[in-house]
Amino acid sequence: MAKKKSLKGLGARYGIKLRKQYTKIHHQLKETRVCPDCGSKQFGRDAVGIWSCRKCNFKIAGTAYDVKL
Ligand SMILES: [Zn+2]
Repeated sequence: MAKKKSLKGLGARYGIKLRKQYTKIHHQLKETRVCPDCGSKQFGRDAVGIWSCRKCNFKIAGTAYDVKL
């Protein structure tokens, strides 16, 4: 039985396709978003599924990685 190196984090466990998706989601998560209420760019994910604006405290439920308006 051949030994396989285990990689950190998302390693060989997932295929390249999934890793690409993971990277995409991470970029999505860090994207600058505009608050739909006041237009401030300090809008981001508060918790999984909850997005909020740091300026006006506007809160919206979205998905874990993106806002669906
Ligand atoms: Zn706002």
